Amino acid sequence: MITRLINIFLIIILGLAGHTPMLYSISVRFQVDECLTIWIDPVLIYNVGDLLPEYVLGYTNGDIILLAGEAEWNDERVIQHEYNHVIQYQALGDFYYITSIFLNLEGYPYYPDLKCNDYMWQPPENWFWKWGLVEIKIPLNRRQ
Ligand SMILES: [Zn+2]
Repeated sequence: MITRLINIFLIIILGLAGHTPMLYSISVRFQVDECLTIWIDPVLIYNVGDLLPEYVLGYTNGDIILLAGEAEWNDERVIQHEYNHVIQYQALGDFYYITSIFLNLEGYPYYPDLKCNDYMWQPPENWFWKWGLVEIKIPLNRRQ
């Protein structure tokens, strides 16, 4: 819930500040159990320039990626690093903030060297938990 609120807050604030996002990708995922759950994830990249601290190339929260400038915008390794965080958020949701204590989300000890991308934690296939910026639950009519 907190990640979704932060994402909506960022979209509104950055929009009001005149920043235009680039739609990097969009994914739609489904799960069927007692209900049909649909997750929709538009991954938006903003070039926010001086809004980030000087030493930070990029920052990700949920489906929102903030980049420090044109150099980062054109560096596929930086975008890959931030997109790896998007995948982590889609697997962990609000638990991202807690699991960063014991999962290697940044790819240490290589971080901030971008070869850390290969060592960042990624969810295994059939990961049990899902998060999406948009989540739609449709109850299924189960006949007795
Ligand atoms: Zn990172």
